Amino acid sequence: MGGLNRRDFLKLLGLGTAGVLGVPVAASAAEIPAVAFGYHRLVAAKETRSICAYCGCGCGLIVYSKNNQVVSTEGDPDHPINEGALCPKGSSMSDINTIVADNYTRVANARRADKVLYRAPGGTEWQVKDWDWALEQIAKRVKDTRDATFEEKDAKGVTVNRTQAIAHLGSASLDTEENYVIHKMLRSLGVINIDHHARL
Ligand code: SF4
Repeated sequence: MGGLNRRDFLKLLGLGTAGVLGVPVAASAAEIPAVAFGYHRLVAAKETRSICAYCGCGCGLIVYSKNNQVVSTEGDPDHPINEGALCPKGSSMSDINTIVADNYTRVANARRADKVLYRAPGGTEWQVKDWDWALEQIAKRVKDTRDATFEEKDAKGVTVNRTQAIAHLGSASLDTEENYVIHKMLRSLGVINIDHHARL
């Protein structure tokens, strides 16, 4: 394809397909109908490279946005891991930010939680809290649980210095250094039930 990389080729193919199908190729974002399907939704969209956060494969994504709203996400053809492919879960990534409404336009996902919501034990209503409150609560409950359940020795008198009342589930999207720091923190608390969500 002489000088034309796979990504440029796919973009040209998409725009070409739009032309063949009689879809008008607009010159500015204002002229673009906010249609959820078809390659013309990508015209004049801002491209941002990212990584799918759903599993440990770490597939490369291109996020297309207009007016700070995601209009589409696609696999990044230049990414060495997925070379443009995405599984169905990764393909639905754009729905985190916007969803397709009844009239086939993308609108902000009103159910997306972007604040700390707290429901007290036995409560029926969610309360909006700030992050400082939430982090303090998490730290307090971890400390209280750890102190109340800490075992210095097991039933046979062997020194164990552990708590079995806390477990930690890691993320396949964390890197080696992040896993190292998290592991150190958990071991310092005496947590021994440490797992990871990847099942590769
Ligand atoms: S395999 Fe699917 S879920 Fe996992 S990173 Fe790739 S696109 Fe995302």
